[in-house]
Amino acid sequence: MDTEKCLVCGTSVKKENLKGHLERVHPKRAGSISERQLVVKSVPVFRSHKKRNFAILGLLALVVIGVSVAAASYDRGIHWHPNLSVTLNGSPYTVPKDIGIDPSLWKDHSLDQYGEGMAPLHTHDTSGTIHVEARTSHYDFTLHEFLAIWGEPSDGSAIDGHRVTSLTVDGVQQATTGDVVLKDGQKIIMTLSP
Ligand SMILES: [Zn+2]
Ligand SMILES: [Zn+2]
Repeated sequence: MDTEKCLVCGTSVKKENLKGHLERVHPKRAGSISERQLVVKSVPVFRSHKKRNFAILGLLALVVIGVSVAAASYDRGIHWHPNLSVTLNGSPYTVPKDIGIDPSLWKDHSLDQYGEGMAPLHTHDTSGTIHVEARTSHYDFTLHEFLAIWGEPSDGSAIDGHRVTSLTVDGVQQATTGDVVLKDGQKIIMTLSP
């Protein structure tokens, strides 16, 4: 048996009698009921709005995911501090400050594109700290490149006219003219003969 609840009084009424029930029991409300039924009929319209809202939400989610993926792969560059200490005749040889900043200590400009207004490999003081300060993390900067910027032989064979006789990186002996990829916190020690 097909019954429906009257929207006004809640009484279960046979479907075919509902109209009659409304007109008979709730004559004043009959008009507004049919309006409500119109509203009920417009539910699919609401539903399609919901679908559209879901579509917009989905798009938004995609945009958010896209932006975060882009942010994650965005290259923030590097700012590392390996240290170069040089010994000449058993005494410390001072690595000058402002290598890669002072024009007289900035001889090679082939890496300038990676720097931020100065060479991507530079010094700010005489501590031997090399600042590897570049707008990309996708390039392996090397000791030989630093020497070239400084204006010393880029094969690492000599500094200031003194032959390099020993090269260690973090305590490990290297071939004297072997190049070294610069890393943060690295300790590079060069020994020069008189
Ligand atoms: Zn720095
Ligand atoms: Zn710097």
